[in-house]
Amino acid sequence: MDGLVGHENVFTLLERTVREGRPAHAYLFSGLEGIGKKKAAVKFACLLNCHDPAVDHDGTCPVCRRIVGETHPDFSIEKPERGMIRIDRVRFLQNYFRYAPVEANWRVTLIDDAHLMNRAAQNAILKTLEEPPPQRMIILVTAKPYLLLSTVRSRCRRVRFRPIPTATLADFLQSEKGLSAEKAWILAAMGFGSVSRSLEMDNPSFSHLRELVISVLSDPGLKGISGIFELSSLISADRNKAGEAIQIASTWIRDLLQEKIVCDSKTIIHRDYAERISDVARHYTIEHLFQVYEELTRSSLLVESDINVNRNLVMDVMLLRIARILIGSNFGISQVEA
Ligand SMILES: [Zn+2]
Repeated sequence: MDGLVGHENVFTLLERTVREGRPAHAYLFSGLEGIGKKKAAVKFACLLNCHDPAVDHDGTCPVCRRIVGETHPDFSIEKPERGMIRIDRVRFLQNYFRYAPVEANWRVTLIDDAHLMNRAAQNAILKTLEEPPPQRMIILVTAKPYLLLSTVRSRCRRVRFRPIPTATLADFLQSEKGLSAEKAWILAAMGFGSVSRSLEMDNPSFSHLRELVISVLSDPGLKGISGIFELSSLISADRNKAGEAIQIASTWIRDLLQEKIVCDSKTIIHRDYAERISDVARHYTIEHLFQVYEELTRSSLLVESDINVNRNLVMDVMLLRIARILIGSNFGISQVEA
């Protein structure tokens, strides 16, 4: 199935429960955003209902095709509307579960972004989780399981999806998506084990941002105060850009640290800048690079959090602090003020 890569261990486990005829009535699939949880849940529904799973490895039989296409009467997906899953959707699901499967072994409902069920919806679904009708299954899919009530979590069998190893993901991007080896590696490493995050970064606007961040951070004076504010105004425009810029900067600083500490070019993320990395790394101390990394981590938490923050201010303060650490350490703080 397209985009599903690197979760073989999870599937071995799920296959075994199906083979042994003891699947649970409720599952909680958790793990990073874009890692393939939803695709895995759909594939699990196929596995439960496929007429010949031993033969149909790629899910192309008529049953599986209808499940994947969401046209099977015994498979449904609930997802948030305007940022929330409300109690009426849970009531709809309960009604759907009153009837036995029409043609499948299991009637399955997948609830995507399940943490967006509001409290009333979560309380309502508890009843179904506590007294599940036979041959019905709920699969909750979420990157934020901690936002679910503990009573909801505890009634589901937990399946954790680990980030896909960089080398595995890079191979996939190269062989299935046709990216060059170098590009596949960079995007895989920056996608932190998530297929969709890696693919999202495969566009000219991300490449431009990456070049800009790296060129500012490679310059001994960070291109002066104007360079910093040019970067700031570009990236504070939207939350994704800010998150991406911080991610590029963090991986760049990580590469510099890697160069200073282990001198191993094989693990460098920004491989196309290998020469520049060894050149720039010489200008800074390990301590200063760690301070910058900490600064980036702190800002990343603020920008990515759900709390309402002034992103422009966070980015400006972050960039000025980084300038103070990097320029102040080598060339005197007066350059920041100039
Ligand atoms: Zn099938």
